[in-house]
Amino acid sequence: MKESIILLDACQEIMDLRLVSGTWGNLSLRLENGNILITPSGIPYDAIREDDLVICDRSGNVVEGNLPPSSELKMHVAIYSSRKDVNAIVHTHSLYASIASAIFDEVQLLVEDVAMVIGGRIRVTSYRYPGTQELADEVVKALGDRMAAIIANHGQVAVGPTMDDALLAAQMCEKASEMYVIASQYPKVNALPDSDVRSLYDKYVNSYKKLRDLK
Ligand code: 13P
Ligand code: ZN
Repeated sequence: MKESIILLDACQEIMDLRLVSGTWGNLSLRLENGNILITPSGIPYDAIREDDLVICDRSGNVVEGNLPPSSELKMHVAIYSSRKDVNAIVHTHSLYASIASAIFDEVQLLVEDVAMVIGGRIRVTSYRYPGTQELADEVVKALGDRMAAIIANHGQVAVGPTMDDALLAAQMCEKASEMYVIASQYPKVNALPDSDVRSLYDKYVNSYKKLRDLK
């Protein structure tokens, strides 16, 4: 299945980008029939094979698979059911997003590229225990219509219409977090105005992003 290849390639990419350590984190794709293709729980990314991926229905019942699905399945289900524009989710415990998750209520955006991809300040959820419906609900709230959120004392979740978009959002969330963790140690930080963040996002979606298709 073509989607399995996309998901396995994305597992390799988050390792290459050093966004994950060990087995933590998880990725999924929404399939055309509304089912969810998700990584198995607790398996090293470099050991995951096509047969290890799990298919669940839109309520989170396992339809196909030999291994237990990710322990954050409820979060993936909640995001897909609340965001019709999202077809791919990347959850990682990347370093700077994890640091930001223990310091801030939100990460302000300082530069153009992160604004274009994420579309608004990155909100940090209230703390909730991993794997719970409560965490899932908090993540949906923190995401709103944005492309990334930070999960308190935990990590980040990035979303997109495609897996490439979600992977880019995960990189931008990590970049924004690193910049803000460092910048916030200085007495004065000039964040981008919220109205400009939104107009940069609109410009990205409606024109800049489309330039890639010319090649
Ligand atoms: P998995 O269960 O997908 O390995 O996830 C671990 C994790 O990130 C929990 O939040
Ligand atoms: Zn996690």
